[in-house]
Amino acid sequence: METNNEHVHCLIIGSGPAGYTAAIYAARANLKPVLYQGIQPGGQLTITTEVENYPGYPDGVQGPDMMIDFERQAKRMGTDIRYGLATEVDFSASPLKVQVDEEKWIEADTVILSMGASAQWLGLESEQRLNGYGVSACAVCDGFFFKGKEVCIIGGGDTAAEEALYLSKICSIVHMFVRRDELRASKIMQQRVLNTSNIKLYWNTEVDEILGDDKVNGVRVKNNKTGEKQVIPVNAYFVAIGHKPNSDILKGWLDMDENGYVKTFPDSTKTNIEGVFVAGDLQDKIYRQAVTAAGTGCMAALDAERYLSALEHSMQSNHMMMHANDREQKH
Ligand code: NAP
Repeated sequence: METNNEHVHCLIIGSGPAGYTAAIYAARANLKPVLYQGIQPGGQLTITTEVENYPGYPDGVQGPDMMIDFERQAKRMGTDIRYGLATEVDFSASPLKVQVDEEKWIEADTVILSMGASAQWLGLESEQRLNGYGVSACAVCDGFFFKGKEVCIIGGGDTAAEEALYLSKICSIVHMFVRRDELRASKIMQQRVLNTSNIKLYWNTEVDEILGDDKVNGVRVKNNKTGEKQVIPVNAYFVAIGHKPNSDILKGWLDMDENGYVKTFPDSTKTNIEGVFVAGDLQDKIYRQAVTAAGTGCMAALDAERYLSALEHSMQSNHMMMHANDREQKH
């Protein structure tokens, strides 16, 4: 480890709505935040197209443009924004330490972690090629664009069930492909899916290929029991086979649930390590919206600011007590 480490007041890791909002609040509180953007500056929103559900954009906005706005606002408030990936942490003592790009170590009084989560994909070439053109990992974000159309969803967990139900209210038919002969989703969600007439379930079914040159016009699926293949015309393909929080480098340091989401104290962004705060999808497997991520980013900056002021006050009173003790000993 380098000995001449840079020392910052407030270090923010991640550049989605949570990270940039934390930066805006931290900068305005004079914490002089330094933000590392990670490998995908702007986060998951840079791979979506139009965002219509973020308040403040009455005509909608393209995801990448919205994240440029977030970045500009964070920069204008005085955030030092840098390109770089957090590759290791050492939270064994204060100051907290974060390594960037496998070489430089930064020391920080507070760290706000907002590295988000990544959607899991099947890994088909067509998923990448048609991403944003009918392929999506977020029904709440993109379902509206397929009003009255036939769409499909892949997965059998609570997310897939919830998103299938959401889509069923907007789209004409939701074809739901489940790789086993049962749903993993909770019983109540299973019942809701089974009782919804325009959700058509396909058991033991896997997607072979998404069809379409410049936008989705169908999927080719295969029954993994019989080997039978069929083509189903759809206008959109939603994948809902789980998310993976980007928390690998935090393992062993922060308390997490079995899926790797970082645990925070109730009504707070505090973690089990003092001075380390977590915001956005790294700690949220339920809502996962840009606006909720931004909300927790704001909370993290406020928590960091309060933590630093409490620390400063206790250092001042310790200092005063030491002086008082010194004076007493001299007399
Ligand atoms: P999940 O519970 O892990 O379910 C993933 C689903 O995708 C499973 O049906 C799984 O099939 C399927 N799948 C995985 N890989 C696949 C592949 N390669 N091909 C086809 N299918 C595949 O994930 P989740 O639904 O995102 O939920 C994550 C956690 O959040 C869960 O604990 C869930 O209960 C929770 N959650 C809660 C709420 C809520 O309380 N409102 C809402 C959403 C999520 P198998 O079953 O065959 O493995």
